[in-house]
Amino acid sequence: MTDRAPALGIDLGTTNSAAAILRDGAVVVLENRIGELLTPSVVGLDRETDALLVGRAARELLSMAPDRAVATFKRGMGRDRRYDLGGREHGAVDLSALVLRALKEDASKALGAPVEECVITVPAYFDEEQRFATIKAGELAGLEVLRVLNEPTAAAMAYGMHERDRDAHFLVLDLGGGTFDVCVMERFAGILQVKSTAGESRLGGEDFTRRLVGLALEEVGLTYEGLEVADLAASGRLLRRAEMAKRQLTDADSIELEVPAVKGRLDRPVRLALSRAAVERAWEPLVRRLLAPCRQALRGARLEEDDLDEVILVGGATRMPVVRAFVRELFRREPVAGLDVDLAVVHGAAIQAALCRRDAAVEDVVVTDVLSHSLGVDVSKRLGGRMVHGYFSPVIHRNTVIPTTRVEAYSTMEPNQTSMHFGIYEGESRRVEENRQIGTLTVKGIPKGPPGQEACDVRFTYDLNGILEVEVTIRSTGRTYRQLFHRHSKALSDAEIARARERIEKLKEDPRDDPKVRELLLRAEALWSELHPEARPILEHALDALEEALEGRDERAIEAASDGLRELCDRMDGGERW
Ligand code: AMP
Repeated sequence: MTDRAPALGIDLGTTNSAAAILRDGAVVVLENRIGELLTPSVVGLDRETDALLVGRAARELLSMAPDRAVATFKRGMGRDRRYDLGGREHGAVDLSALVLRALKEDASKALGAPVEECVITVPAYFDEEQRFATIKAGELAGLEVLRVLNEPTAAAMAYGMHERDRDAHFLVLDLGGGTFDVCVMERFAGILQVKSTAGESRLGGEDFTRRLVGLALEEVGLTYEGLEVADLAASGRLLRRAEMAKRQLTDADSIELEVPAVKGRLDRPVRLALSRAAVERAWEPLVRRLLAPCRQALRGARLEEDDLDEVILVGGATRMPVVRAFVRELFRREPVAGLDVDLAVVHGAAIQAALCRRDAAVEDVVVTDVLSHSLGVDVSKRLGGRMVHGYFSPVIHRNTVIPTTRVEAYSTMEPNQTSMHFGIYEGESRRVEENRQIGTLTVKGIPKGPPGQEACDVRFTYDLNGILEVEVTIRSTGRTYRQLFHRHSKALSDAEIARARERIEKLKEDPRDDPKVRELLLRAEALWSELHPEARPILEHALDALEEALEGRDERAIEAASDGLRELCDRMDGGERW
């Protein structure tokens, strides 16, 4: 094993994981040591030898000896949660590292060369801490993580959306074993962007299985509550059978399900025949829960169902006919699901891994993204004569296209206040204590004066590599404080800091400095002063739109607003009646 292996694309899933490479332009999903494409994301300890088990063996163990195996630890990434495994506690990073190590070893074996580099996919809503935890897990597994890639972006790439010759909007609906994610994406000028995300972190195929178990138990006069305590083995057996029956129902109109004898509750096994209609009726409340996140993601992207060009299905549970019917009805179209829904994400990861390896310049093609969580500062409010601290004031809002830069002003609140202390936070809660603190920045030397007289401009600039620059300027003195914050807890090297600064400086160039924009603004303002007052609001509106776009520094929005304003000026100048 001497040759350098290709970089691996890895889908590190909540339920299952997979690894793939791009070979001669085609994605090859690699088989694991037991010849399967999916490796369950489960870690266990063998009951006799205490040997570490990863994948299917660990999953088998989970149903027989739940204290000796752990699953769904992806939910704990970047969080303090600990998982008990045979009496010892582990963090999600360590457990994920074990899955990644197994994938790496199996891939190296399949390729006949040691794999060293990879791209790992993560949910679009993962915050910086969770993304960093993923990178750390990769490093612990002995892999260099070239990129963490959003799962919906990967799925879209798998279907070649980044190569289409036409710009488009699409929605990626990912219903896995235990999570539901919806993401609206846009392809514009060769760039794939996540426009908005929504989801339910506790809704997935497993809920459908559990509901089927519930239905079967109702038929024999039992309930699920306490079943595991009464008879763990029977409960495990029933769950496994229901899982199989659920899958059969994808292709059949009815199923047979045998409820095993349950100690003290059911003397002998009962064989049930269940029609698809009956099961689907029982699933209705679960299907209804798919709606709100779809609507929310569309709202976040300011789109209607009909604005979408494609709906892409990802995740094993989207095979269920009820889910497909829901999608067809809501979006009034047939979803895209040509690839195996379990493997779409790993396909995209493999394409991205190849792109990373071949050409660093390709980087820009796919990483344009949106901010997964709002970034802002803590503020105090005077409420009923009392000062209340700890409110969150976002500077850059969630779902803003990044890279971006924005300014907010904050005034002094106390008489003769000479310093301001800014806590920098990430999150969506109104109160900072429920958000995550990224750092602090204190400015001093504010001239004394009455409350509210002095103000600071707080500029947040966020780039694609998760580096946030906070720049605070005391308005009256012009004194500026600046600090970089980054998602990696390890320190950045000097070279990295220099590169980040260069990128950020570029971003901060004011789009108003663009001569075309400046000329247009001057022209519109001159025209405004000449216009009849009744006609002014129309121009005012178009001017506002451009100003707003300039504030947001969104190039596309600036272009669209400029075009609109220019056209209006032309028409007004052309003597059209206003
Ligand atoms: P994932 O997390 O994407 O691997 O999704 C796993 C989920 O997909 C599990 O809940 C499976 O029960 C479900 N699933 C896989 N295959 C099928 C199928 N043929 N019919 C229904 N559900 C399935």
